[in-house]
Amino acid sequence: MIAHFLGGGREVGRVGILSKFDDTQLLVDYGLIPSEPPQYPQEAPPIKNAILSHAHLDHSGMIPWVCTRYNADVFTTPLTAEISEILYRDTLKIADAKGHPFPYGEDELNNCLSKFLYISQNDEVELDGLKIKFHPAGHIPGSVMIEIPEYGVVYACDINTIDTHLLKGAKPIKCETLFIEGTYAGVEHPNRKELEKQFLDEVEEVVNKGGKAIIPAFAVGRTQELAMILQKSGHEVWVDGMGIKISEIMLRHKDYIRSPEKLKKALKEMNIVYSNKGKKMALKAGVVLTTSGMMNGGPVLWYIDKIKDDPKSAVFITGYQVEGTNGRMLLENKEIELYGVKTKVDCQVKFFDFSAHAGHSQLVKFIKDCSPENVVIFHSDNPEALIKEIDANIFIPQNGDIIKIE
Ligand SMILES: [Zn+2]
Ligand SMILES: [Zn+2]
Repeated sequence: MIAHFLGGGREVGRVGILSKFDDTQLLVDYGLIPSEPPQYPQEAPPIKNAILSHAHLDHSGMIPWVCTRYNADVFTTPLTAEISEILYRDTLKIADAKGHPFPYGEDELNNCLSKFLYISQNDEVELDGLKIKFHPAGHIPGSVMIEIPEYGVVYACDINTIDTHLLKGAKPIKCETLFIEGTYAGVEHPNRKELEKQFLDEVEEVVNKGGKAIIPAFAVGRTQELAMILQKSGHEVWVDGMGIKISEIMLRHKDYIRSPEKLKKALKEMNIVYSNKGKKMALKAGVVLTTSGMMNGGPVLWYIDKIKDDPKSAVFITGYQVEGTNGRMLLENKEIELYGVKTKVDCQVKFFDFSAHAGHSQLVKFIKDCSPENVVIFHSDNPEALIKEIDANIFIPQNGDIIKIE
């Protein structure tokens, strides 16, 4: 097989792997880096079929462009399709508001959405005579790993191997060639149980001292996971922003959630913000879970503006903050841009590593358990960290590289 890295080589973001199996060509993911302005992968040549592993924009963002340009079919889970649509529309809105030119618009998007072909997490399909199997990836609801059994190839584009409240961890698949993300190569996550306890203790402490706990969270996956954790806090918790809509979608696709009943129950116990009046009530109650996770927009900014001068209050950051985002600036410099003005904050700022990616040891174990001869590490800025622990031929492609595996 041949794999051409259009993006995602030695970087976290804009994944695009053009793969050739004898006569059959397949594009696995086609994303962008949602920076300002966004960064795109190299232009894909004409293709007939694409597979989308999950809804995150670094994998999905340019699918509407490639799909419309070449009239290609896109195979993905129905949940990924629905979540992607929301993220696409939001991306178009942001591009419009910021005034940067964008490679596609509403028409291309609507066309692409009509070209999605649905597969489920344990499905098998045939594409141009090539058999493809899908497996749950444990990363976000709807995410899949892709297996091409005839060639012994597996793509693990963003995986988590531990069980969380929301999802079961990904299971290894025996293969000859493993394409694997290495986001956390060289970095270990804290023990999840201890992290949850520490998080709940900190929320408790802030509230007991009369402060407010503002918890920015990604709409997809993190909001739902934290809702299930915060349910144990015993406090009145409010949810604001896009996470509410995404949760409703997830609850309509029960097969992709570890325990839909548990999620439903957790969300039922939360109070939902629908209006400005709701925002004030949420702030008064003291614990607010809200988007956007990286604080570049969304209702979270309203809440931070209200608590920024209060040392008793806290912003609890619950996800990775990309360089150049408001969240990264807040974490590193205790500064945030609110409505166009850079402002110092005096409230507490703390980070909790609730990552949805496998950490270093989990990646090593997963790779070993797949027992591949060839390992292709991408979606990583430190792929070398995995080399000495893996006994296989290792490929670390750069963007634009074409690798050939016999
Ligand atoms: Zn992802
Ligand atoms: Zn990713």
